[in-house]
Amino acid sequence: MAKSIAINAGSSSLKFTLFEMPEEKEIASGIIERIGLKDSIFTTKFNGEKYKVVEDIDDHEIGIQKVLDKLIELNVISSYDEITGVGHRVVAGGEYFKDSVLIDDDVLEKIESLSELAPLHNPANATGIRAFRKILPDITSIASFDTSFHTTMPKENYLYSIPMEYYEDFAARKYGAHGTSHKYVSEKAAKMIGKPLSETKIITCHLGNGASITAVKGGESIDTSMGFTPLAGVTMGTRSGDIDASLLPYLMEKLGLTDINDMINILNKKSGLLGLSGVSSDMRDVEEAAAEGNENAQTALDIFYNRVQKYIGQYIAILNGVDAIVFTAGIGENSKETREIIIDGMDWFGMKIDPEKNDVRGEERVISTDDSKIKVLLIPTDEEVMIARDIERLRKSN
Ligand code: AMP
Repeated sequence: MAKSIAINAGSSSLKFTLFEMPEEKEIASGIIERIGLKDSIFTTKFNGEKYKVVEDIDDHEIGIQKVLDKLIELNVISSYDEITGVGHRVVAGGEYFKDSVLIDDDVLEKIESLSELAPLHNPANATGIRAFRKILPDITSIASFDTSFHTTMPKENYLYSIPMEYYEDFAARKYGAHGTSHKYVSEKAAKMIGKPLSETKIITCHLGNGASITAVKGGESIDTSMGFTPLAGVTMGTRSGDIDASLLPYLMEKLGLTDINDMINILNKKSGLLGLSGVSSDMRDVEEAAAEGNENAQTALDIFYNRVQKYIGQYIAILNGVDAIVFTAGIGENSKETREIIIDGMDWFGMKIDPEKNDVRGEERVISTDDSKIKVLLIPTDEEVMIARDIERLRKSN
């Protein structure tokens, strides 16, 4: 029996999920937050229980050690050797990685060299990889890229309308993100609507703190809303999504900024729901504030719905039809208002939500009416199990 661990390392966090494979049984999971800060929070979930420890965890390596020791303490594993594979989520794989890969020095170097494409994520992902390699150097170690699923996009969708040599010389193009999630839910969706994946047209809406929409044709991504980096596309928790690039020098002058990175930082960290509402980046807080009459919070919600609708509309056009629209991730799985308002506003297309079926959180089901021409689906995403599957696949091929 194999035990595989899926790792998602952020700059100050580390999420893990341990699976028994090939059964795909989730045995334990957890998260360390505030790594490198005072009072790091380490939470483990096992057997329906939650174990929380607050202590200083200085870096990812110490964090991983804590995770493994906790798994031993809880009798989830009896020794480190029981873990046969590890899979790291990596945000940017550029044009190098069309699939998950076994990690070696060259792969790690490439992941680091791609940091320009995901400055908030790739360096942190690499830190997680390096820390794991130190502690468990001999197990199967793979990287699973958020961009791989989108490497099937045709040129007309991944190229920007800028001089061609910028793509040829500098690889300046759209890469997208959340690919593992879009892949997982689109495969599930095909099963739910009872059509062979190769014949489906599906639009997947991954609406979490980061959000992206993807047009999936025959099981392949043909376009996605995120761009060169995860900053583009729809309104997100703290990210602006699409804006006119000319706004940048204009605002920089008004704000007295001289470093473009300060401006980009505002677009990445202080915009989106947070920037518009002035309340929070968290959808629950924004919904609550809007319900209490906060006008800017309501405007933030309206803009969020509007941007998602615009992408769905675009993708219906380029797919020339659609079988199903899928909602997933934190907001997509939990906010019935979001799903209802987005779909109700596009009923002309022949999509109709069933308020009773939609009155649910985080459960896989069809939420459109029986007579809805386009099916609307709620599918909880599971990026971790996709990573665990890839660990098994690459472990066996090794
Ligand atoms: P994720 O990045 O996928 O973890 O999603 C995080 C987002 O999901 C945050 O904006 C949360 O506010 C949102 N979310 C989680 N639960 C709910 C809920 N019950 N209602 C509305 N939004 C939710």
